Order: sequence, then C-alpha cells, then structure tokens
Amino acid sequence: DSITLEEVRDNVWEIPQSGEMNVPARVLASESLLEEISGDRTLQQLKNTTELPGITKYAVCMPDGHQGYGFPVGGVAGIDAETGCLSPGAVGYDVNCGVRMMRTNLTYDDLTGTETELVETLFEAIPCGLGGGGVLEVDRKTVDELLNAGVEWAVDAGYAVEEDLRRCEDEGRRPEATPDAVSQEAKDRGRSQIGSLGSGNHFLEVQRVTDVFDPEIADAYGLEPDQIVVLIHTGSRGLGHQVCTDYLAAIKQSHSELLDSLPDTELAAAPAGSELAASYYTAMCAAINFAWVNRQVVMHQTREVFETVFDRPWESMGMELLYDVAHNSAKLETHEIDGENRELYVHRKGSTRAFPAGREEIPETYRSVGQPVLIPGSMGTGSYVLCGGDAAMTETFGSTAHGAGRVMSRTQAKREFWGGDVQQELQDQQHIYVKADSGATIAEEAPDVYKDIDEVIAVSEALGIGKPVARTFPVCNIKG
Ligand code: 5GP
Ligand code: MN
Ligand code: MN
Repeated sequence: DSITLEEVRDNVWEIPQSGEMNVPARVLASESLLEEISGDRTLQQLKNTTELPGITKYAVCMPDGHQGYGFPVGGVAGIDAETGCLSPGAVGYDVNCGVRMMRTNLTYDDLTGTETELVETLFEAIPCGLGGGGVLEVDRKTVDELLNAGVEWAVDAGYAVEEDLRRCEDEGRRPEATPDAVSQEAKDRGRSQIGSLGSGNHFLEVQRVTDVFDPEIADAYGLEPDQIVVLIHTGSRGLGHQVCTDYLAAIKQSHSELLDSLPDTELAAAPAGSELAASYYTAMCAAINFAWVNRQVVMHQTREVFETVFDRPWESMGMELLYDVAHNSAKLETHEIDGENRELYVHRKGSTRAFPAGREEIPETYRSVGQPVLIPGSMGTGSYVLCGGDAAMTETFGSTAHGAGRVMSRTQAKREFWGGDVQQELQDQQHIYVKADSGATIAEEAPDVYKDIDEVIAVSEALGIGKPVARTFPVCNIKG
C-alpha cells in the first residue's frame, strides 16, 4: 500500500498513526534523500515497526535509511523494557557491527610513496572475505572467556592496552553477557574468525583528515588537518549471525502469538520479561563483546603493519584508539518520554548512538564535549567524525546516522560497474589505493551505490542530533 508522509518541519517527515500502528513513524531526511528512501521498501518496513508492542513516541528512520530484513537499516526504536519487547530483527544479523577510528601522529606527506606497500601489507595481515578464518583461532574455553570479558580479554591476551578499553562504547564490555546463552554452533563459527573483516561492506581504510569544522572538539578528539587516521568497520562475523538466527527460530517456537500479530516475521520479538527476552539480551551482549574483540584484533594487526612499513614502534606513531561505536545493537537506556523517565530497549540498527555532553555513558575524556560519532561515507568520497548533539536526546533516542546508506542493490551494482575499472579510476583520479579479494566486491561497493554522505551529515547537523567535527578522505582501503 502507498504511504503518505506529512512534513512536520524541515527534514522531518511523519507517517501519522493509523490502523495497527502503536505510534507514528518519522523519517529524518532532506527532500532528495527522502526521494531515495522512498525508492525501496524502507517506509513500509518503518511503518511495520510501529506495531511492535511497547514502542514509545515514534519509530525513526535516519537520513541514510534503506530497506533491511524486517526492520529498516537506519532505524531506531525505543521500546519499553517492562511492557514491550526485545527484537533480534531490530538489532540485525551482524550484532555490534560498528566502526572504530585510530589516530596517528603521521601526516599525509609521511605516507606518500608508501601507499602500495601499505595496502598490500594490510591485505596480507588482515583476513577479508565472507568465509575464511581470522588472525587467531581460539579453543572453546577461550571463546567463552572473551564473550564474557570483551576487550578486557584482549588486554590480558596482549592485543590491547588499557587505554583502548576506555575508548570503546561501554568500555569494550557488556557485563550482562552470558556465554551459556550462545549456542555451540555460534561459538564454533566465531572462534576461528577473530580478527577478520568479513563481507565487502566491511573495510579497513587509512584516511587523512581534510577538514576540521569544530577546532575545539577536534582538539578534544585529538584530530587536526592532514593527520592520518585509520577507520575499521566490521562486526561479530558468523557468531553474531548465528545468535540472530538461533533466537529468531526460538521466538518462532515459543512466542508465535506475538509473531502472528506482527506484519513481518523478520520483526520477530520476545516479550519483555520473558525468559527468551532475557536470554537473547545476554547472548546479544556476548556477541557484542565478540565484535569488540574482533575490531580490537584488527586494530592490533594494523599497529603491527605500520610498525613494519614505517620501522618504528606503534606508540611512537601515536596510534591510539579515538573511539569505537556500535551501529547494530539494543541497549537498556533511560530516556525521558512525555516528561517521565523510562527504561527502554533502544534498538539501533544501522544507527549510531550520539549522546551529547554530560551523559555518564561517555568516557570521561570526551564527556564535556559529547561522544564521538563515526560515520563512513564510501571508499571514494569521504567520511565524518561528528559529536553527539543535544537534540538527539529529544528527537532520536540519542542517535544519528551510521553511513551514507545504499541506494543501489548489490546485483544492480554488478551490472552497472566493473570492479577493475572502479579500482583503477580511484587510483588514477583520486590517489586512493583499494585492494579486495575480488572485482565483484569493488563493484558492489562502488562509491555511487551509496547516497550523498555530505547531505546525510547536513541533515544531522540541521536537526542538532550530530555536530560535524572533521571530515576524512581515503588513502588506502582494504575491502572485506
Ligand atoms: P553498513 O554497516 O550498513 O554495511 O555500512 C555502513 C556505511 O559504510 C555504508 O552506509 C557506507 O556509507 C559506508 N561504507 C561502505 N564501504 C565503505 C568504504 O569502503 N569506505 C568508507 N569510508 N565507507 C564505506
Ligand atoms: Mn556488518
Ligand atoms: Mn556496519
């Protein structure tokens, strides 16, 4: 059925509540982004999510939104944690897919001439591609330990320093994690994949800072023009995928009444307070910890690659973690709804937490300015570092976009682009060195398959949910 939108104000569009909807839905977008968002099933999916029991205020779609499985990518739902539900479908298959940015004290000039060596060495050191192993393979006992301890495990095992912990969302560990809630199949899929990128939308990109928009906040984040930084995008690999699959199946078994009342089975949710909701939450937290360890080990490899290429210890190159954000997760958070503080499961699927200054969840070093929000664009355009804005708390459950967002399916991309040509053009015209397992991956991820990142950021800025701090441009990229 066709969906009518009402313009609430600039960049804010509403699907009014009707029929089975529990709340209205909102799309945050400029007119041209809205046109792109309307081109696939996103709006219908967003409308469907408003039927989830206990959803508060409104379902939100970010300016980078596009269709996903059941719940749209770029979607946010704040659902009452006592009377509502918890939905694996609204978290996504790649639990704690996310990005981390590592600073360096190198400048673009320091790197010039080493690009080919750097990209080749990174490609050697960091496993890419859908199947395949990781940097480490651990035994069953160890996988339980790291599901419990997250980045704290990586510190003990020598893949992280203490300082890395403090620069992750949730300090690199969800303490609610229960390895027993994760199936052996999920653990066995994950334990050989630690330190790997996975499929082609994931990447490791060496970037240079091209613009600083807010010098004061950039200073607090340790960013300045021309500096080299590294952006790492990956998630929980087969482990998270299996956790999602397992719990969707379990919900179909034990909560079919709730499932039958929903317009899309992929939205499957466990009622708040049920045993299944509790065990999914603890399994999801374990998968979240796994993803943090994964990104940490990839970062560790990157430090070693830089040591090899530049022949210096990584500490002397200032290779510190700036921040690590999750963009597929659900979390118990307190939010003010209609003047009342309520405990919500905030589901963010393809959306980044964007807490403003003062929230206690933000690491102390950044608390006075607001949390860093890392938003990749594409391998040919650029990416952004934002700072959480005050309006995020009133408008979006403390969230903003997570990327530029696809406008073209992978199948269509492979018809339109030839990987080898895209790679050559990036190198010849923009001095961007890309390496991937296959040409198809590069075609599927060509810059034109994504929306205009500048416009996505402009919406975030205009609404006050995320403030632009700096922009980066790719130098070398290895694709998952
Ligand atoms: P997702 O998590 O939905 O797969 O992707 C997040 C975002 O990453 C995408 O919406 C896209 O804007 C961005 N992205 C995908 N590939 C690349 C890349 O190679 N480099 C950069 N900088 N961004 C990318
Ligand atoms: Mn992912
Ligand atoms: Mn992702």
